[in-house]
Amino acid sequence: MPSEFDLIARYFTRPSRTAVLGVGDDAALLRTTPGMELAISADMLVAGQHFFPDTDPERLGHKALAVNLSDLAAMGAVPKWALLSLALPEADETWLAAFARGFLGLAEHHGVELIGGDTTRGPLNLSVTILGEVEAGRALRRDAAQDSDDIWVSGTLGGAALGLRHLRGEIELPPEMAAACRARLEAPQPRLALGRALIGLAHAAIDVSDGLLADLGHILECSGKGAIIESGRIPLAAALPTQPEWLRSCALSGGDDYELCFTAPTALRPQVEAAAAAAGTPATRIGTITSSGGILLVDETGKRIPVPPSGFDHFG
Ligand code: ADP
Ligand code: MG
Repeated sequence: MPSEFDLIARYFTRPSRTAVLGVGDDAALLRTTPGMELAISADMLVAGQHFFPDTDPERLGHKALAVNLSDLAAMGAVPKWALLSLALPEADETWLAAFARGFLGLAEHHGVELIGGDTTRGPLNLSVTILGEVEAGRALRRDAAQDSDDIWVSGTLGGAALGLRHLRGEIELPPEMAAACRARLEAPQPRLALGRALIGLAHAAIDVSDGLLADLGHILECSGKGAIIESGRIPLAAALPTQPEWLRSCALSGGDDYELCFTAPTALRPQVEAAAAAAGTPATRIGTITSSGGILLVDETGKRIPVPPSGFDHFG
Protein backbone atom coordinates (compact mmCIF):
# COMPACT_ATOMS: atom_id res chain seq x y z
CA MET A 1 0.00 0.00 0.00
CA PRO A 2 1.49 3.40 -0.93
CA SER A 3 1.49 5.92 1.91
CA GLU A 4 -0.19 9.29 1.68
CA PHE A 5 3.30 10.78 1.20
CA ASP A 6 4.13 8.39 -1.65
CA LEU A 7 0.91 9.39 -3.39
CA ILE A 8 1.57 13.11 -3.00
CA ALA A 9 5.14 12.70 -4.22
CA ARG A 10 4.13 10.53 -7.16
CA TYR A 11 1.05 12.30 -8.43
CA PHE A 12 0.99 15.85 -7.14
CA THR A 13 4.58 17.04 -6.87
CA ARG A 14 6.14 18.93 -9.75
CA PRO A 15 9.13 21.28 -9.72
CA SER A 16 8.23 24.84 -8.67
CA ARG A 17 8.51 27.49 -11.31
CA THR A 18 6.93 30.64 -9.93
CA ALA A 19 6.42 29.71 -6.28
CA VAL A 20 9.30 30.34 -3.89
CA LEU A 21 8.43 27.00 -2.27
CA GLY A 22 5.86 24.49 -3.52
CA VAL A 23 4.65 21.08 -2.33
CA GLY A 24 6.56 19.41 0.50
CA ASP A 25 6.91 21.81 3.42
CA ASP A 26 4.41 22.91 6.05
CA ALA A 27 3.32 25.76 3.82
CA ALA A 28 4.03 27.06 0.34
CA LEU A 29 5.75 30.39 -0.12
CA LEU A 30 4.70 32.86 -2.81
CA ARG A 31 6.02 36.18 -3.94
CA THR A 32 3.29 38.40 -5.32
CA THR A 33 3.78 40.91 -8.11
CA PRO A 34 3.92 44.56 -7.01
CA GLY A 35 0.87 46.54 -8.15
CA MET A 36 -1.31 43.43 -8.33
CA GLU A 37 -4.01 42.19 -5.98
CA LEU A 38 -4.44 38.53 -5.12
CA ALA A 39 -7.71 36.97 -6.31
CA ILE A 40 -8.49 33.87 -4.26
CA SER A 41 -11.37 31.44 -4.57
CA ALA A 42 -12.28 27.91 -3.45
CA ASP A 43 -14.71 25.38 -4.90
CA MET A 44 -15.53 21.91 -3.68
CA LEU A 45 -16.85 19.02 -5.76
CA VAL A 46 -18.64 16.33 -3.75
CA ALA A 47 -19.28 12.86 -5.22
CA GLY A 48 -23.00 12.21 -5.69
CA GLN A 49 -23.73 15.91 -5.31
CA HIS A 50 -21.67 17.54 -8.07
CA PHE A 51 -20.61 14.51 -10.12
CA PHE A 52 -21.35 10.82 -10.55
CA PRO A 53 -18.79 8.80 -8.55
CA ASP A 54 -17.90 6.80 -11.69
CA THR A 55 -17.06 9.90 -13.77
CA ASP A 56 -13.92 9.53 -15.88
CA PRO A 57 -11.20 10.58 -13.39
CA GLU A 58 -9.22 12.52 -15.99
CA ARG A 59 -12.24 14.68 -16.72
CA LEU A 60 -12.89 15.04 -13.01
CA GLY A 61 -9.34 16.32 -12.47
CA HIS A 62 -9.88 18.78 -15.30
CA LYS A 63 -13.24 19.93 -13.95
CA ALA A 64 -12.07 20.34 -10.36
CA LEU A 65 -9.56 22.90 -11.56
CA ALA A 66 -11.69 24.33 -14.39
CA VAL A 67 -14.53 25.47 -12.12
CA ASN A 68 -12.01 27.33 -9.98
CA LEU A 69 -10.28 28.88 -12.99
CA SER A 70 -13.70 30.02 -14.15
CA ASP A 71 -14.09 32.08 -10.96
CA LEU A 72 -10.81 33.85 -11.67
CA ALA A 73 -11.84 34.37 -15.30
CA ALA A 74 -14.94 36.15 -14.00
CA MET A 75 -12.72 38.51 -12.00
CA GLY A 76 -10.40 39.19 -14.94
CA ALA A 77 -7.52 37.68 -12.98
CA VAL A 78 -4.50 35.68 -14.15
CA PRO A 79 -4.46 32.31 -12.35
CA LYS A 80 -1.10 31.40 -10.84
CA TRP A 81 -1.28 28.89 -8.03
CA ALA A 82 -3.62 26.15 -6.82
CA LEU A 83 -4.11 24.04 -3.69
CA LEU A 84 -5.79 20.65 -3.98
CA SER A 85 -7.45 18.94 -1.02
CA LEU A 86 -8.64 15.41 -1.64
CA ALA A 87 -10.67 12.97 0.39
CA LEU A 88 -10.35 9.53 -1.23
CA PRO A 89 -12.16 6.35 -0.23
CA GLU A 90 -9.10 4.30 -1.25
CA ALA A 91 -5.67 4.74 -2.82
CA ASP A 92 -6.65 3.64 -6.35
CA GLU A 93 -3.51 4.47 -8.29
CA THR A 94 -5.05 4.07 -11.73
CA TRP A 95 -7.74 6.55 -10.69
CA LEU A 96 -5.20 8.94 -9.14
CA ALA A 97 -2.90 8.88 -12.16
CA ALA A 98 -5.80 9.79 -14.47
CA PHE A 99 -7.13 12.42 -12.07
CA ALA A 100 -3.67 14.03 -11.80
CA ARG A 101 -3.31 13.95 -15.59
CA GLY A 102 -6.56 15.89 -16.00
CA PHE A 103 -5.79 18.36 -13.22
CA LEU A 104 -2.14 19.00 -14.04
CA GLY A 105 -2.76 19.05 -17.79
CA LEU A 106 -5.19 21.94 -17.45
CA ALA A 107 -2.93 23.60 -14.86
CA GLU A 108 0.00 23.43 -17.26
CA HIS A 109 -2.12 24.78 -20.11
CA HIS A 110 -2.92 27.91 -18.08
CA GLY A 111 0.49 28.29 -16.40
CA VAL A 112 -0.89 27.35 -12.97
CA GLU A 113 1.36 25.73 -10.38
CA LEU A 114 0.03 23.21 -7.83
CA ILE A 115 1.67 24.42 -4.62
CA GLY A 116 0.04 22.29 -1.92
CA GLY A 117 -3.07 20.73 -0.53
CA ASP A 118 -4.17 17.93 1.73
CA THR A 119 -4.81 14.24 1.14
CA THR A 120 -6.97 12.17 3.43
CA ARG A 121 -9.15 9.06 3.45
CA GLY A 122 -12.87 9.72 3.29
CA PRO A 123 -15.91 9.92 1.01
CA LEU A 124 -14.74 11.17 -2.41
CA ASN A 125 -14.44 14.94 -2.22
CA LEU A 126 -12.33 17.32 -4.30
CA SER A 127 -11.59 20.76 -2.99
CA VAL A 128 -9.49 23.29 -4.86
CA THR A 129 -8.29 26.73 -3.84
CA ILE A 130 -7.08 28.94 -6.65
CA LEU A 131 -4.91 32.04 -6.38
CA GLY A 132 -4.38 34.56 -9.12
CA GLU A 133 -3.40 38.14 -9.67
CA VAL A 134 -5.22 41.12 -11.07
CA GLU A 135 -4.16 44.75 -11.47
CA ALA A 136 -4.95 46.60 -8.23
CA GLY A 137 -8.43 48.14 -8.30
CA ARG A 138 -9.32 46.74 -11.72
CA ALA A 139 -10.96 43.37 -11.04
CA LEU A 140 -14.36 42.68 -12.64
CA ARG A 141 -16.75 42.61 -9.70
CA ARG A 142 -20.40 41.68 -9.33
CA ASP A 143 -21.34 45.00 -7.82
CA ALA A 144 -20.31 47.29 -10.65
CA ALA A 145 -23.12 47.05 -13.24
CA GLN A 146 -24.42 50.46 -14.34
CA ASP A 147 -27.69 51.71 -15.78
CA SER A 148 -28.13 51.02 -19.51
CA ASP A 149 -25.07 48.76 -19.69
CA ASP A 150 -25.35 46.04 -22.31
CA ILE A 151 -25.55 42.53 -20.89
CA TRP A 152 -23.36 39.99 -22.66
CA VAL A 153 -22.82 36.28 -22.38
CA SER A 154 -19.94 34.25 -23.82
CA GLY A 155 -20.20 31.01 -25.81
CA THR A 156 -23.47 29.09 -25.62
CA LEU A 157 -25.75 28.09 -22.77
CA GLY A 158 -27.67 24.97 -21.86
CA GLY A 159 -25.26 22.33 -23.16
CA ALA A 160 -24.06 21.13 -19.76
CA ALA A 161 -27.62 20.86 -18.42
CA LEU A 162 -28.62 18.81 -21.47
CA GLY A 163 -25.58 16.60 -20.91
CA LEU A 164 -26.64 16.01 -17.32
CA ARG A 165 -30.21 15.13 -18.30
CA HIS A 166 -28.89 12.77 -20.92
CA LEU A 167 -26.55 11.05 -18.44
CA ARG A 168 -29.47 10.67 -16.05
CA GLY A 169 -31.44 8.99 -18.84
CA GLU A 170 -34.12 11.70 -18.85
CA ILE A 171 -33.71 12.66 -22.50
CA GLU A 172 -32.43 11.16 -25.73
CA LEU A 173 -29.87 12.90 -27.93
CA PRO A 174 -28.16 11.86 -31.16
CA PRO A 175 -24.74 10.37 -30.27
CA GLU A 176 -22.67 13.32 -31.51
CA MET A 177 -24.75 15.86 -29.60
CA ALA A 178 -24.76 13.66 -26.53
CA ALA A 179 -20.95 13.57 -26.61
CA ALA A 180 -20.72 17.35 -27.08
CA CYS A 181 -23.13 18.05 -24.21
CA ARG A 182 -21.37 15.57 -21.97
CA ALA A 183 -18.05 17.28 -22.71
CA ARG A 184 -19.60 20.62 -21.73
CA LEU A 185 -20.68 19.08 -18.43
CA GLU A 186 -17.55 17.09 -17.65
CA ALA A 187 -14.76 19.16 -19.17
CA PRO A 188 -15.73 22.85 -19.10
CA GLN A 189 -13.32 25.39 -20.62
CA PRO A 190 -12.74 28.36 -18.32
CA ARG A 191 -12.99 31.67 -20.22
CA LEU A 192 -9.73 33.09 -18.90
CA ALA A 193 -8.60 34.91 -22.04
CA LEU A 194 -11.95 36.65 -22.35
CA GLY A 195 -11.95 37.66 -18.67
CA ARG A 196 -8.53 39.24 -19.09
CA ALA A 197 -9.54 40.98 -22.31
CA LEU A 198 -12.55 42.54 -20.56
CA ILE A 199 -10.49 44.41 -17.97
CA GLY A 200 -11.07 48.10 -18.59
CA LEU A 201 -14.13 47.35 -20.78
CA ALA A 202 -16.65 45.43 -18.68
CA HIS A 203 -18.21 46.93 -15.58
CA ALA A 204 -19.45 43.75 -13.84
CA ALA A 205 -18.92 40.05 -14.51
CA ILE A 206 -19.79 36.63 -13.13
CA ASP A 207 -19.31 33.07 -14.35
CA VAL A 208 -22.44 31.11 -15.17
CA SER A 209 -22.21 28.11 -12.84
CA ASP A 210 -25.77 27.96 -11.52
CA GLY A 211 -27.71 29.14 -14.60
CA LEU A 212 -27.92 32.48 -16.40
CA LEU A 213 -30.92 33.81 -14.48
CA ALA A 214 -29.48 32.92 -11.09
CA ASP A 215 -26.01 34.26 -11.83
CA LEU A 216 -27.15 37.43 -13.58
CA GLY A 217 -29.42 37.78 -10.55
CA HIS A 218 -26.30 37.97 -8.36
CA ILE A 219 -24.93 40.85 -10.45
CA LEU A 220 -28.25 42.66 -10.20
CA GLU A 221 -28.51 42.15 -6.46
CA CYS A 222 -24.93 43.23 -5.78
CA SER A 223 -25.23 46.23 -8.10
CA GLY A 224 -28.76 47.24 -7.02
CA LYS A 225 -30.03 47.03 -10.63
CA GLY A 226 -32.59 45.27 -12.84
CA ALA A 227 -32.34 43.79 -16.33
CA ILE A 228 -34.28 43.28 -19.55
CA ILE A 229 -33.26 40.09 -21.37
CA GLU A 230 -34.29 39.41 -24.95
CA SER A 231 -35.07 35.73 -24.89
CA GLY A 232 -34.43 35.24 -28.62
CA ARG A 233 -30.88 36.56 -28.34
CA ILE A 234 -29.66 34.01 -25.81
CA PRO A 235 -27.00 31.86 -27.52
CA LEU A 236 -28.26 28.28 -27.30
CA ALA A 237 -26.08 25.18 -27.21
CA ALA A 238 -26.15 23.52 -30.64
CA ALA A 239 -28.29 20.64 -29.36
CA LEU A 240 -31.01 22.88 -27.90
CA PRO A 241 -33.03 24.37 -30.79
CA THR A 242 -34.26 20.92 -31.88
CA GLN A 243 -35.35 20.01 -28.36
CA PRO A 244 -38.92 20.33 -27.06
CA GLU A 245 -40.01 23.64 -25.57
CA TRP A 246 -39.71 22.52 -21.92
CA LEU A 247 -36.02 21.74 -22.37
CA ARG A 248 -35.14 25.11 -23.79
CA SER A 249 -35.25 26.63 -20.32
CA CYS A 250 -31.91 24.82 -19.84
CA ALA A 251 -30.31 27.88 -21.43
CA LEU A 252 -31.80 30.13 -18.76
CA SER A 253 -31.68 27.93 -15.68
CA GLY A 254 -29.25 25.11 -16.40
CA GLY A 255 -25.97 25.19 -14.50
CA ASP A 256 -22.41 24.10 -15.20
CA ASP A 257 -21.80 25.93 -18.48
CA TYR A 258 -19.04 28.12 -17.02
CA GLU A 259 -19.54 30.89 -19.54
CA LEU A 260 -19.07 34.53 -18.53
CA CYS A 261 -21.98 36.94 -18.14
CA PHE A 262 -20.86 40.55 -18.06
CA THR A 263 -22.05 44.11 -18.47
CA ALA A 264 -20.37 46.88 -20.44
CA PRO A 265 -21.23 50.40 -21.62
CA THR A 266 -23.08 50.49 -24.97
CA ALA A 267 -20.38 52.88 -26.27
CA LEU A 268 -17.86 50.05 -26.01
CA ARG A 269 -19.70 47.50 -28.20
CA PRO A 270 -17.01 47.41 -30.91
CA GLN A 271 -14.27 47.08 -28.29
CA VAL A 272 -16.10 44.24 -26.53
CA GLU A 273 -16.54 42.47 -29.85
CA ALA A 274 -12.86 42.92 -30.66
CA ALA A 275 -11.86 41.65 -27.20
CA ALA A 276 -14.01 38.55 -27.63
CA ALA A 277 -12.58 37.90 -31.08
CA ALA A 278 -9.03 38.31 -29.77
CA ALA A 279 -9.81 35.89 -26.95
CA GLY A 280 -11.29 33.39 -29.40
CA THR A 281 -14.55 33.24 -27.42
CA PRO A 282 -17.75 34.53 -29.01
CA ALA A 283 -19.80 36.98 -26.95
CA THR A 284 -23.46 37.79 -27.55
CA ARG A 285 -25.41 40.83 -26.40
CA ILE A 286 -28.59 39.59 -24.71
CA GLY A 287 -30.06 42.59 -22.92
CA THR A 288 -29.75 45.79 -20.94
CA ILE A 289 -29.24 46.80 -17.31
CA THR A 290 -32.11 48.84 -15.86
CA SER A 291 -32.30 50.91 -12.71
CA SER A 292 -34.29 48.34 -10.73
CA GLY A 293 -36.87 45.55 -10.80
CA GLY A 294 -35.30 42.11 -11.18
CA ILE A 295 -35.13 40.31 -14.53
CA LEU A 296 -37.69 41.05 -17.23
CA LEU A 297 -37.67 38.46 -20.02
CA VAL A 298 -39.10 39.65 -23.36
CA ASP A 299 -39.66 38.15 -26.84
CA GLU A 300 -38.67 39.75 -30.18
CA THR A 301 -41.72 42.04 -30.09
CA GLY A 302 -40.91 43.27 -26.58
CA LYS A 303 -43.76 41.23 -25.06
CA ARG A 304 -43.08 39.98 -21.57
CA ILE A 305 -42.61 36.24 -21.12
CA PRO A 306 -42.73 34.45 -17.78
CA VAL A 307 -39.35 33.85 -16.16
CA PRO A 308 -38.86 30.11 -15.48
CA PRO A 309 -37.74 29.00 -12.01
CA SER A 310 -34.20 30.08 -11.24
CA GLY A 311 -30.96 28.11 -10.98
CA PHE A 312 -29.59 25.58 -8.61
CA ASP A 313 -29.35 26.24 -4.88
CA HIS A 314 -27.97 23.50 -2.60
CA PHE A 315 -30.14 24.55 0.31
CA GLY A 316 -33.09 25.97 -1.67
P1 ADP B 1 0.84 18.69 6.99
O1 ADP B 1 0.93 17.50 7.87
O2 ADP B 1 1.81 19.79 7.34
O3 ADP B 1 -0.56 19.15 6.75
P2 ADP B 1 0.77 17.06 4.70
O4 ADP B 1 1.41 15.78 5.05
O5 ADP B 1 -0.72 17.14 4.71
O6 ADP B 1 1.40 18.20 5.57
O7 ADP B 1 1.25 17.47 3.24
C1 ADP B 1 2.61 17.41 2.90
C2 ADP B 1 2.85 18.34 1.73
O8 ADP B 1 2.14 17.85 0.62
C3 ADP B 1 2.39 19.76 1.98
O9 ADP B 1 3.27 20.63 1.28
C4 ADP B 1 1.01 19.78 1.31
O10 ADP B 1 0.68 21.09 0.88
C5 ADP B 1 1.24 18.84 0.15
N1 ADP B 1 0.03 18.14 -0.30
C6 ADP B 1 -0.74 17.28 0.38
N2 ADP B 1 -1.74 16.79 -0.38
C7 ADP B 1 -1.62 17.37 -1.60
C8 ADP B 1 -2.33 17.29 -2.81
N3 ADP B 1 -3.40 16.52 -2.97
N4 ADP B 1 -1.89 18.04 -3.85
C9 ADP B 1 -0.81 18.82 -3.72
N5 ADP B 1 -0.09 18.94 -2.60
C10 ADP B 1 -0.47 18.22 -1.54
MG1 MG C 1 -2.09 18.01 5.88
